[in-house]
Amino acid sequence: MDCDVPNTSLLTFDDALAKLLANAAVVTELHDIAVQDALGRVLADDVVSAYNIPPFANSAMDGYAFNHQDLTHFKDLEVVTTSLAGHPSDKALAAGQCARIMTGAMLPSGADTVIMQEQTIRQDNQISIQGVVNKEANVRGQGEDIAAGSVVFPKGHVIQARDIGLLCAIGIATVSVLRQLKVAVISTGDELVMPGNTLKSGQIFDSNRQLVMAMLTPMNIEIRDFGIIPDQRTAITDAITEATEWADVLITSGGVSVGDADYVKEVLNELGHINFWKLAIKPGKPFAFGHVGKCAFLGLPGNPVSAAVTFDRLGVPFIKLCQGHQPSNDIVIKAIAKDDFKKRIGRTEFQRGIATQAADGQWHVSSAGEQGSGILSALSRANCHVILPAQSEGVLISEPVKIIHYTHL
Ligand code: AMP
Ligand code: MG
Repeated sequence: MDCDVPNTSLLTFDDALAKLLANAAVVTELHDIAVQDALGRVLADDVVSAYNIPPFANSAMDGYAFNHQDLTHFKDLEVVTTSLAGHPSDKALAAGQCARIMTGAMLPSGADTVIMQEQTIRQDNQISIQGVVNKEANVRGQGEDIAAGSVVFPKGHVIQARDIGLLCAIGIATVSVLRQLKVAVISTGDELVMPGNTLKSGQIFDSNRQLVMAMLTPMNIEIRDFGIIPDQRTAITDAITEATEWADVLITSGGVSVGDADYVKEVLNELGHINFWKLAIKPGKPFAFGHVGKCAFLGLPGNPVSAAVTFDRLGVPFIKLCQGHQPSNDIVIKAIAKDDFKKRIGRTEFQRGIATQAADGQWHVSSAGEQGSGILSALSRANCHVILPAQSEGVLISEPVKIIHYTHL
């Protein structure tokens, strides 16, 4: 069969993604972890603040705190106390009195307004106020950021660097998170050798497994590298058995097409339940998905660009769901083509593009070069997917086209 002939037995990209996501089992085990170690982790419970933030009304400026009502009766105010950050004054202000106050210091009892020192003239213990100051000016109210008892983060939230600041600000030292997803990675192929060796006749360096592991690394996953497995039934059976006993998800590359030495599919069929898909996408037609026991597996195609693109488009969203992330949509941008991006009708294509943004904010996209599924250099040069729908024949230069920036690749 010609690769590019439309074929109804090919599964569309949308259907494949929907099937994958419908079969994602979310990790359930949880444990407590120090907030400082929680970057990228998924909250197993709502986080509720025990405190008001700020915990007390305080000054946003260096200046003087007083009761705004006094301004109707007094021209000058008497400085009777000082409030520093961490050293509140216990003196309550009487009519006509004010406190010297610094940024972050607690407002003394009786004060509701702060005037910045640049707006005052001080003589001995008297200040005169210059210009107009509104009631409650320069005061950060108690609980104006976060009210005690409120939910700060919902269960399922993925903790970002900025959230670590907020968790610390509400006084939380440990959070309950889902355990890390365990992902095993296997390369198959008698031709593969580890980089660092010298190639013998007929050999190539393994690149898929390392690329996939590099994509997994920032995803906060427990990765186990099962190395290169030769094209032998027993070796593949042993490796897949061991990997699926340990992992939540097994990712293999190679061995899922129709070649004589493509045992992965057969072994998976024997050990578990397999859906072998021929996808209507390019690159990346052969793709296997299924389960061995409780372990899900993703059988990526062997061609490096196909492995990378199918893993990015299908594998990453599946894994995120398994980790407990909420489903999210890709950010799709409309760009203007700076090259022709041609294709045949039939399959959705994710071509390799280089996106640039002009001074007016408009995105443009040029081709990263040869679009073959073995051309890793074009993938490396690219920074975005150029999305060409199944029914299109591509786009011509200066026509609009949709792109998705690489975020994991
Ligand atoms: P396969 O799906 O096993 O038939 O492999 C398809 C193509 O991808 C062949 O040219 C393989 O040599 C190549 N290939 C398979 N696995 C890898 C890998 N891990 N790294 C680089 N190339 C690979
Ligand atoms: Mg192979």
